[in-house]
Amino acid sequence: DAKYDHPRETRRIAVANQKGGVGKTTTTVNVAAALAQGGLNVLVIDMDPQGNASTALGAKHNSGVASVYDVIEGRSSIADVMQICPQFDNLHVVPASIDLSGADLELADMPNRNNLMRDKLDEFLESSETHYDYVLIDCPPSLGLLVINAMCAAHEMLIPIQAEYYALEGLGQLINTIGLVQKNFNPTLLVSTMLVTMFDKRTLLSREVYEEVKSHFPMIVLDTTIPRAVKVSEAPSFNESVVTYDPKGLGAIAYCEAALEINGRSEVVINTLHARKNED
Ligand code: ADP
Ligand code: MG
Repeated sequence: DAKYDHPRETRRIAVANQKGGVGKTTTTVNVAAALAQGGLNVLVIDMDPQGNASTALGAKHNSGVASVYDVIEGRSSIADVMQICPQFDNLHVVPASIDLSGADLELADMPNRNNLMRDKLDEFLESSETHYDYVLIDCPPSLGLLVINAMCAAHEMLIPIQAEYYALEGLGQLINTIGLVQKNFNPTLLVSTMLVTMFDKRTLLSREVYEEVKSHFPMIVLDTTIPRAVKVSEAPSFNESVVTYDPKGLGAIAYCEAALEINGRSEVVINTLHARKNED
């Protein structure tokens, strides 16, 4: 496998949508695995107390394991808690455990509560010997403080959209929250990517959802869609991404194509981010 080209700058992407079950975790894990398979250095930060991304990447995350919770509460650095994915030594994981479930409330009184993750990530990326090409942050299905922390730590947002009847419902609320974060904390945050998931090419509905998303966000939605495929949902129970669990399957191929498309837009995205920074 040829190594993917990538500019020197680290892309920091929060994968968010306050709706549950739309494919955030599946997308985080499989895009990360595909990028790692392409030879890039990838860090996944699991910010969901459910710890599903940690499970799928083979990271230990039972209660009490050093995790993102210790990072966000200031007890540990990212380097202290990070684990290496068994399938790829260039894919690193900051696990989440159920201990994180109280964090939204606990953080509420902290000064600097919105930028706890950003500061830890800045410190880590500056001091790490590894140069990371990507940081992907898997968000819980809410718009609480953990998600705000992810949006402040990231430079970009990737929004998975499930190809279903109510696909765009709730997107307005998410866009509003992103607007508030931009206004108050992270002015250059860019919604760079939307990915339509659980796409069924035989149904008119799936195609209609894709066309509707495309008409609202023509520059942002990827050409690649992710098909609904049983192997995709099976892989996590073997503590694997579908990229390694079923490498020749439609799910793995689609996620590899999505990763290639995301990576192929790096130059444009980074230039856009720089332009925004200069306006700021
Ligand atoms: P979220 O993180 O947004 O809550 P998940 O990524 O956990 O969503 O996906 C929700 C459920 O749908 C999971 O059980 C997952 O295995 C399944 N799933 C996600 N993407 C696919 C797909 N392309 N094909 C089949 N099942 C999928
Ligand atoms: Mg999830």
